[in-house]
Amino acid sequence: MGIVVQKYGGSSLSDAASVKRVARRIVQAKKAGHDVVVVVSAMGDTTDDLIDLAEQVSPRPPAREMDMLLTAGERISMAVVSMAINDLGFSARSFTGSQAGVITDAVHGKAKIIDVTPGRIVSAIDEGHIVIVAGFQGVSGDTKEITTLGRGGSDTTAVALAAALRADVCEIYTDVDGVFSADPRIVPAARKLDRVSYEEMLEMAASGAKILHLRCVEYARRYDIPIHVRSSFSTLEGTWVIDPADTKEEDMEHAIIAGVAHDRSEAKITVVGVPDKVGEAARIFETLAGVEVNIDMVVQNISAAATGLTDISFTLPRADGQTAMGALARLQEEIGYEKLLFDDQVGKVSLIGAGMRSHPGITAKFFSALASAGVNIGMISTSEIRISVIVDENQVEAAVQAAHTAFDLDATEVEAVVYGGTGR
Ligand code: ADP
Ligand code: ASP
Ligand code: MG
Repeated sequence: MGIVVQKYGGSSLSDAASVKRVARRIVQAKKAGHDVVVVVSAMGDTTDDLIDLAEQVSPRPPAREMDMLLTAGERISMAVVSMAINDLGFSARSFTGSQAGVITDAVHGKAKIIDVTPGRIVSAIDEGHIVIVAGFQGVSGDTKEITTLGRGGSDTTAVALAAALRADVCEIYTDVDGVFSADPRIVPAARKLDRVSYEEMLEMAASGAKILHLRCVEYARRYDIPIHVRSSFSTLEGTWVIDPADTKEEDMEHAIIAGVAHDRSEAKITVVGVPDKVGEAARIFETLAGVEVNIDMVVQNISAAATGLTDISFTLPRADGQTAMGALARLQEEIGYEKLLFDDQVGKVSLIGAGMRSHPGITAKFFSALASAGVNIGMISTSEIRISVIVDENQVEAAVQAAHTAFDLDATEVEAVVYGGTGR
């Protein structure tokens, strides 16, 4: 039997009892004859607690030190999980991301994995050990500094290791039974998807469904690694994230809409009164790129003929709000815009489904569902298989529920169970 990579999220490792429970589950896989490599996240809300601590200590902590701090969370998990396995009579060895050969670029806080050199893991497997790896972290090949992969990044560690080790499957163990048609925390009638394509899962992850980290899905698609998302609290079969071409036609569901995702982590900036001239938008977005800010949606209004001025609005990660506002403020004289507006009371709601390609009227149905729920649309963006809208933050839940119902996604019997976690 081949190698199995399992990843346990923080919600599955909230206290000593759950560490022991996870250890028993890992040992079962070993007993079944697999070589087992386990990736762990920080226990419970440890990462959030460490971020809170840093904020209390320093208003602007250096990114390097933030990474040193946050990687400690996963380090605690790997050691205690390893101890619990050893107590069950099996030998386990824990490794930091750096020891495991997770090589990243040098961008603190959102590093990308550029290579995995799992020599020490392979040796440990060959010696018969269960291997435990700290997720969410790596080491920069250039600077040799310790990096983190961005929130939720342990999923990506797991898939990257699965690819490097040519594992049969990457199992992501979490606090819900799989990928649902919406976040079960806000839509109790959400339905579990038995299978979902990489393509749809990519859009869901990019649209804020934090069940899987976006880069983990990108990685899985590139290396054709099947992901099995399932609960660490139940033995139910979860959701398979796969390439539909790899499965029998009749196994794949053909729903038009896979699900509704939401995201409360974005903010909106409006640059008011930009002269309507060639090159102004380029200058604004070059400046933002220069400070490593990723832009999501962009809307430029038609300029009023009388003034020749236009407004440009865009969304970005809330956490980058101050960086972006600072960089744009320095451009005011050069561009001569009027003012900047910052709004972090926004949320994004996205409808995702490969069936959109071939079914007209989806946009109309989505917008009329929002209208019936009294939800006002601030911005709109689309891809071939996704429609996203920006709405007022406190209307996010109403919007998700309205869309879920309008597209007949509600389960007739309640399927969604949230076993743990605080949803932080
Ligand atoms: P872990 O600690 O295991 O990494 P996360 O909190 O990162 O867990 O991700 C699991 C959570 O993702 C669930 O508890 C759920 O609230 C949320 N979630 C958001 N969208 C979905 C979805 N479409 N299907 C399932 N869970 C979702
Ligand atoms: N512990 C990290 C976080 O909370 C990484 C992860 O959970 O995947 O974001
Ligand atoms: Mg997660």
